[in-house]
Amino acid sequence: MQDAARKRRREYQRAWQRKLKAEAIAAYGGYCRRCGESRLDLLVLDHINDNGAEHRRETGTKGGWPFYQKMRQQGWPVGLQVLCHNCNAAKQRGLVLRQPRLLHLTKRAYGYEEID
Ligand SMILES: [Zn+2]
Repeated sequence: MQDAARKRRREYQRAWQRKLKAEAIAAYGGYCRRCGESRLDLLVLDHINDNGAEHRRETGTKGGWPFYQKMRQQGWPVGLQVLCHNCNAAKQRGLVLRQPRLLHLTKRAYGYEEID
């Protein structure tokens, strides 16, 4: 019985964390600034000026939901943007991604229907 209660609590926490992440991603635009990816599981908050380690130290968090919570408390401060894992990795490595998905971003930004 205790296991069931623990499982319920864990499910509640996961749902709460996911909702918080969704709120954070939405606050910073809702999709990858570089390619338009919008699936929540693939998105992260990125420090525009690459000061993430320093900023996390200032906030006393190691990232993840405690960091999202802190940003919410601070009213979603500037200096962050949404990137997908791919674009985030490419940014860290100084790579330029291939172009096709930019079309996706453009379509989304201008409210065009997805044709394909
Ligand atoms: Zn991306």
